[in-house]
Amino acid sequence: MSERRPYVAANWKMYKTVEETELFLAEFLPRAGEISGADLVICPSYPSLRTAVELCAQGRVRIAAQNMHEEAVGAFTGEVSAPMLIELGVTGVVLGHSERRTHFAETDEALARKLPAALEAGLEPILCVGETEVERDAGATESVLLRQVTGGLAGVVDGRLADVVIAYEPVWAIGTGRTASPEQAAEAIGHIRRIVAGRSAEAAERLRIIYGGSVKPANAGELLAAEQIDGALVGGASLDSGDFTAIVEAALP
Ligand code: PEP
Repeated sequence: MSERRPYVAANWKMYKTVEETELFLAEFLPRAGEISGADLVICPSYPSLRTAVELCAQGRVRIAAQNMHEEAVGAFTGEVSAPMLIELGVTGVVLGHSERRTHFAETDEALARKLPAALEAGLEPILCVGETEVERDAGATESVLLRQVTGGLAGVVDGRLADVVIAYEPVWAIGTGRTASPEQAAEAIGHIRRIVAGRSAEAAERLRIIYGGSVKPANAGELLAAEQIDGALVGGASLDSGDFTAIVEAALP
């Protein structure tokens, strides 16, 4: 781990009802209350956001959404805006997750509008980037990351770059049980940091770049020990409070 403050986020995807959210937090929050050395973020589905915000109000755990629209209001049926999330007490938002890119046609162009909209509203964006297996095998990992990072950050002014968290999530490792080796993750994250440095060396030094892709208690220690990896975005293993706590503990300096 580096001198940057560790950042660990739980991406619950389309799992957990409001009742299940309450049960998870009843177990997790007492344990999280003893942890001060990392930023802890939980990303429930929209219906559970208010409950999660209320239950976390007294502690350090923050709540983020899994997507948002770039406009504040408008005729966009089924969408949710940054001011709506702010009103709920949400503090961040996952943007560009590979599942949104694959299943819902999320584009780098849309992300270039969503990131500044999130920042202007007061949300911390977690920008997800990562190559598919075919792209890795074709030797295109660096060019894919260059396109996604450059495109996603295109609308963010240099002075706000460090307020973005970037999650390097190789698509072949998400939900597959296959994890990037610490060396693969560190190499890709180093490349992402160099891309950001092309915009601002100072921002590149401060901005957190975390790893996501089948992080489990069994592999978190090895991954998070790498100096380049500032934390984790955890999907499947974050649904269990014990597993997520173990991953959080592995991220502590
Ligand atoms: C994710 O959804 O961002 C993710 C990394 O999922 P998993 O940990 O299940 O691979």
